[in-house]
Amino acid sequence: MAEETIFSKIIRREIPADIVYQDELVTAFRDIAPQAPTHILIIPNVLIPTVNHVTVEDELALGRMITVAAKIAEQEGIAEDGYRLIVNCNRHGGQEVFHIHMHLLGGRSLGPMLSHKGI
Ligand code: 5GP
Repeated sequence: MAEETIFSKIIRREIPADIVYQDELVTAFRDIAPQAPTHILIIPNVLIPTVNHVTVEDELALGRMITVAAKIAEQEGIAEDGYRLIVNCNRHGGQEVFHIHMHLLGGRSLGPMLSHKGI
């Protein structure tokens, strides 16, 4: 069994978070350290530590993460200008919290996809 992270407590509303959306499959809340005017994390309610742990049983929740991202982008008024969805995996991906999450970033031009070149 994977170890729970702080995100499980946010899902269960045991610790405070600015939750903008929740249903039976996913929860979305504002990032505590926003890197853009809109920075929201969308997560499955079940604990999946990384993309490496995903199975076919997770496809419904993972698909819901995208449809919820689109809905929130519309609500935030950033759909037309555009935004970025990011899922980091493990060390090289820069993952810090081991409960899969999709970053929804927008509200300004986000520049090139990667912050440094040479890849
Ligand atoms: P990662 O680097 O794992 O892709 O992103 C983790 C994200 O979770 C970071 O952007 C970080 O600011 C955010 N985060 C970490 N702990 C908390 C928390 O307790 N509450 C909220 N709202 N965001 C958090």
